[in-house]
Amino acid sequence: MDVAVIGAGPVGLMLAAELRLGGAEVVVLDRRAAPDERPRANGLGGRIVEQLDHRGLLDRFRAEAGFAGPFPGFPFGPVPLNFAGLDSPMRGLMLQQPRMEALLTERALELGAEIRRGHELADLGTVRGADGSYRLEARYVVGCDGAHSRVRELAGIGFPGTTDDELMRLGHFRADLPMFGSELQRGWNRRPGGRVLVTSLTPGVVIAGVREVAPEPPGEPTLEEFHDAVRRVLGTDLRLGEPLWLSRTVSSARLAERYRAGNVFLAGDAAHVFPAGGSSLNVGLLDAVNLGWKLGAVVRGAAPESLLDSYHAERHPVAARTLTQTRVQALLDRATGEDGDALRTLFGELAALPQATRHLAGLLRDADELPYVPDLPLTVGGRATRVAEVMRAARPVLFDFAGRADLREAAGPDVKIVTAECPDAPAEALFVRPDGVVAWKGGDPAALREAMTAPGR
Ligand SMILES: Cc1cc2nc3c(=O)[nH]c(=O)nc-3n(C[C@H](O)[C@H](O)[C@H](O)COP(=O)(O)OP(=O)(O)OC[C@H]3O[C@@H](n4cnc5c(N)ncnc54)[C@H](O)[C@@H]3O)c2cc1C
Repeated sequence: MDVAVIGAGPVGLMLAAELRLGGAEVVVLDRRAAPDERPRANGLGGRIVEQLDHRGLLDRFRAEAGFAGPFPGFPFGPVPLNFAGLDSPMRGLMLQQPRMEALLTERALELGAEIRRGHELADLGTVRGADGSYRLEARYVVGCDGAHSRVRELAGIGFPGTTDDELMRLGHFRADLPMFGSELQRGWNRRPGGRVLVTSLTPGVVIAGVREVAPEPPGEPTLEEFHDAVRRVLGTDLRLGEPLWLSRTVSSARLAERYRAGNVFLAGDAAHVFPAGGSSLNVGLLDAVNLGWKLGAVVRGAAPESLLDSYHAERHPVAARTLTQTRVQALLDRATGEDGDALRTLFGELAALPQATRHLAGLLRDADELPYVPDLPLTVGGRATRVAEVMRAARPVLFDFAGRADLREAAGPDVKIVTAECPDAPAEALFVRPDGVVAWKGGDPAALREAMTAPGR
């Protein structure tokens, strides 16, 4: 086996599909016997949406999404950002995480990945399955096994950071929104002892949450403890309907020291956890896109082992910047009293300045400073197409916009060559990695050859 992916969460499934496109044999192991149906993330936004387009997956996601298009704004913690007037919009879609996982499972299976559920990684060479333990023979192991990653622990990779002293209880209830009374507004309601959330994304289902400084009790979350917490914070009861799902979480801000230890890699929540919502899944899925083609290229002999070091070099700084912005979101949210109100007011005024809104939107899109290829309209062989459609195969592409045979010859055998007409072409030619990064642009064949052997190409 070329690659064993531990964890069939969204990141492991995305990685499995990318690995298959890259030509690697892949098995995905998950200790859960069945997919996780808990609600969790409600959507995706930023560059991952462009990546789904590159892989031909966006239409499937859009077909099921409650909303798909440019986000008109985004909550930066408690501060609403208004994106009207941004020159590059932030694309997004609203879809519950279990549906995303179902679509990613379908895709990984279509491409030939093997998914074994009810199989738990015990140590780096041993899996416990329903019929007993067996040896795991794989050239590479990727831990996509979530915040409490066993792979990270077994690889001896530290996970420094902080854990909050606030507890968040969240639930979905069968009820209609106006049930909660006029003293509460939709969204988070701030009180001296904590915050209470009431909102709804689906008719007939209310999402309610309560945050307070409290130790985490043992056992599964109960309805009674949810009501007790609401009463402590609001001083009154919330009339909620039948609970469909209850959860209890303590947020953490942590980043793995390394994303690679020998033949072991980390991606998604195993590599980073953020203390505010909205970014985890975007960053995790983009980890998978960055790592997938690199492992695929090394496994099929098209790139040297050293290419794999660029995964940490490129993705670790992105998570570090995301950690910074999510720490600020969490801080803005939890600052209390009049000081907190003053902080939120002034931050809101600053964030409304166009340059600041653009900066924050850039951080939310992916916090990645690599140059990505724009989705230019093209004509190839007389047929109208787009860059995103050319990227479907997840292979490196040389876009030749000037009919340059010398450049086409300089591209190696592993490169897909596309001779295209493009009125807005930024150069005579572009060499684009499978993840959409422009690794080179220009017209000099010697420079192209050099770019193709650069360590992170
Ligand atoms: C209540 C809640 C709300 C959230 N809201 C948002 C949001 O709005 N936006 C957002 O972006 N994110 C949100 N998140 C976070 C998001 O759900 C995670 O970032 C995402 O699930 C991470 O995906 P992953 O594939 O990295 O890990 P996970 O989804 O955690 O998947 C890890 C998988 O690994 C398996 N596994 C673990 N250990 C082993 C082992 N030893 N052997 C085999 N399998 C193993 C697990 O069974 C699991 O299936 C939320 C999370 C929660 C809990």
